Amino acid sequence: MNLRVFAPATGALLAEVPVTSDEDVRQVVVRARRAQGVWSVVPVAERAQRLLRLRDALSERSGELVETLVRECGKPRHEALVHEVTTLLDLVAWYCKHGPETLAPEHLTLHLMKHRASEVHLVPRGVVGVVSPWNFPLVIPMGSVLLALLAGNACVVKPSEVTPLIALKAKEIYDSTGLPEDLFGLVLGSGSTGQALIESGIDYCVFTGAVETGRKVAAACGARLVPCTMELGGKAPLVACEDCDLERTARAVVFGGFANSGQVCISVERVYAHERVYEPLIERVRSLVGELRQGDPMRDYVDLGAITFPRQIDVAERHIQDALRKGARLVCGGHRIPGRGHFFEPTVLADCDPTMSVMRDEIFGPVVPMMRVGSDDEAVRLSNDTHLGLNAYVFSQSRDRARRVSESIEAGSVVVNDVLANYATIEAPFGGIKQSGFGRVHGVESLRDMCQRKHLSYDRVPAPARDPLWFPYTARSFHWLQRGVRLVFGGGPLGRRIGELF
Ligand code: NDP
Repeated sequence: MNLRVFAPATGALLAEVPVTSDEDVRQVVVRARRAQGVWSVVPVAERAQRLLRLRDALSERSGELVETLVRECGKPRHEALVHEVTTLLDLVAWYCKHGPETLAPEHLTLHLMKHRASEVHLVPRGVVGVVSPWNFPLVIPMGSVLLALLAGNACVVKPSEVTPLIALKAKEIYDSTGLPEDLFGLVLGSGSTGQALIESGIDYCVFTGAVETGRKVAAACGARLVPCTMELGGKAPLVACEDCDLERTARAVVFGGFANSGQVCISVERVYAHERVYEPLIERVRSLVGELRQGDPMRDYVDLGAITFPRQIDVAERHIQDALRKGARLVCGGHRIPGRGHFFEPTVLADCDPTMSVMRDEIFGPVVPMMRVGSDDEAVRLSNDTHLGLNAYVFSQSRDRARRVSESIEAGSVVVNDVLANYATIEAPFGGIKQSGFGRVHGVESLRDMCQRKHLSYDRVPAPARDPLWFPYTARSFHWLQRGVRLVFGGGPLGRRIGELF
């Protein structure tokens, strides 16, 4: 069976690629495990050094990566280069530099057992399975591949069936570096191939996708006790306080709402604007949207490209109809663009309210709903009234005010006076709370998460043959033990002094 890959901007058939059978998925994992056995004993500094070849090769062939992304996703060239290729290059470079110190054993200072020493070692998990979506089909899976390999694992990726070509290109570039080929495996197909990967004996799973799929994947992982990271949907609010810089905020709404045609898990998905800035903000957003150029990114330098996954057009239309039926005002857009390819006008809705699906459920398309609020507190309350908690944005010229609002918003990341920037802040943790998932994909912890923690406990001084805490238990040893416990943990002056030493 083959996957048929179409160019979203023209509808043209780009390629047919064979689906990996379930048996072949298992074989890819077996080969990956074999390669991992050799790779895991390579010192981490050497692994980092060798993985830098991947950065060099990706950088050298960045033109091919950009072209593939533009053709297969329909995204503008700038976004392919900046959001995907550059973020990935930065990620490879930064983690290869900081990997050795991040993965070094940690020596613990023990407060009680002074006669012993403890170290925490980070040991590779084995084979990491990565199941990824179509919206950032280079940086999302390849970021995890890099972290998995740096930590001493092998990695097998199942990209979205919508975007297998960029995954094949990344694999081709990887193979050209001389790194062990089986260490990074690729399996192609639909959701059932992802399922086969999870059932193939992997040791860890990094899943990025929709909440509903995440539930199934987490359940499949749970059934096998495979630990996992879940990067799921978002419904990022943008709070425009009354003292916001109106021009920057309007530009942020437009960029944050329409970059990658809104197909970003951290897109601006709803705007809560203070009543003093509400109408001027809508007006400025309307005129900025009017300046956007939309079209086939293979032909022109456009701001908005195509909708990568046509299903998102239906989703956008459903949200818009529901909002208009319930009293929203159409500021601009609202329609699919007829002709070849899949395009949808950048759409702004005003006077929205929380009963509308567009304010509650993920849109994942070029639609920005806006709502008037009377205070920061109201904006915070509405921002938090959701089952999702991936990202949020706050615009204010007062640092204290922005901080106050940010601290009250329930989300994995809150960004002040900027949009989308935190995904590229690769040294900071990225991920969600509530049903937006768990675990993080960036930040040093995400590299450590690619490892098991192994505690090594050993003696610092020669231990006596007869340990006083071992058998035999006697009345006398119990008496002395009890006195010792009171001495150390008691509330008396000596106990307090000892407690301070903890
Ligand atoms: P999906 O959940 O539909 O798919 C994600 C991946 O899972 C795809 O590779 C898909 O394969 C695969 N899959 C589908 N069913 C199963 C299954 N039963 N077992 C294993 N794998 C399966 O998400 P989309 O690709 O539509 O991506 C959009 C979603 O991703 C949005 O909700 C968005 O918010 C979220 N996302 C989250 C991010 C984050 O970091 N939090 C970042 C980017 C996107 P196939 O495509 O072939 O069906």
